[in-house]
Amino acid sequence: MDFQNGFKADSHFSLSRRSFLSSAIATTLGIQPYNFSAAESPVTSKAQIAITFDLEMSRQYPRRDMLEWDFQKGNLNQETKAYSLKAAEIASGLNGLVHYFCVGRVLEQEDIQWLKTISELGHPIGNHTYDHVNVWATDPEKTQFRFQRSPWLLGGKSADQVIRQNIRLTTEAMKQRLNISPDGFRTPGGSSTALDAREDLQNMLLAEGFSWVSSKYPSHKYSSPDTEPDNDIYQSILTAQKEAQPYIYPSGLVEIPMSPISDVGAFRTSHWKLKYFLKSVELCIQQAIEQGSVFDFLCHPSIMYVEDPHFETVKLICKLVNQSGGRAEIVGLSDIAKSVPRKTS
Ligand SMILES: [Zn+2]
Repeated sequence: MDFQNGFKADSHFSLSRRSFLSSAIATTLGIQPYNFSAAESPVTSKAQIAITFDLEMSRQYPRRDMLEWDFQKGNLNQETKAYSLKAAEIASGLNGLVHYFCVGRVLEQEDIQWLKTISELGHPIGNHTYDHVNVWATDPEKTQFRFQRSPWLLGGKSADQVIRQNIRLTTEAMKQRLNISPDGFRTPGGSSTALDAREDLQNMLLAEGFSWVSSKYPSHKYSSPDTEPDNDIYQSILTAQKEAQPYIYPSGLVEIPMSPISDVGAFRTSHWKLKYFLKSVELCIQQAIEQGSVFDFLCHPSIMYVEDPHFETVKLICKLVNQSGGRAEIVGLSDIAKSVPRKTS
């Protein structure tokens, strides 16, 4: 879908501001500023910025030798829970919002007050499956490492049945222990092809009560580990963000792509310093404001408590939106889903 369909005629976004921002980005990147001509869309709609936290443990955190989390994705440690709650409080204090995605197994833990408090503060919580299963898998044992070590848990079910049950258990656990229904669904992992060729999964999610999914993670370039990203890398991320905008599948399900670069790619894969990550986030938000588009920031508190212990990323996103003069807003993904223009045939 062409995101320009989303432009609204009533915007007050001025051409001069666009030029200023594009020059600012270009200057930061050390490249030639791009001059918008009047023939190009002179106005744009309000940028929608989402901050999303996937509530799961991440391999190689807090130490590189930690791989056991692959089998216990939902068994959150104290630091991850504390970071998640503190981020919610910080965002609330800065007129922000964090959209969380819950791996259902965490609701087996004795104390879930941290997540109840997050919900009571008004932050939406979506479904991220019970065991962090790979929904694209077609072999039941390939849905999750846990089932390779403990295949009896599969009970002879097909991949389709395992995935459906994993989604359903999370919805049920959220209802029983948090007294809420999930606000949307995010696939564990992401795919550059999203659910485009998987109408069966689209229909499964619709049948399980979801109107939108966040499954697409666009392809982009990565810097070599321990190397400062150059302009080419930042440009690749900006291009991927621009092209991965929300759209509607033929089934009617809405797709809200994750925006690059995730903390996994930046910190675990490329060993970025925090300042590189903050620069990428700032460039992407500036671009989203220029274009009136969506930026769906994705991170994992199990990584961020190690890499960004002082919540600089959440504070930066809230600050940039608060300073945007009304040209951007922080929203949950359900608000983004409602704004995706539906084609009239
Ligand atoms: Zn995940």
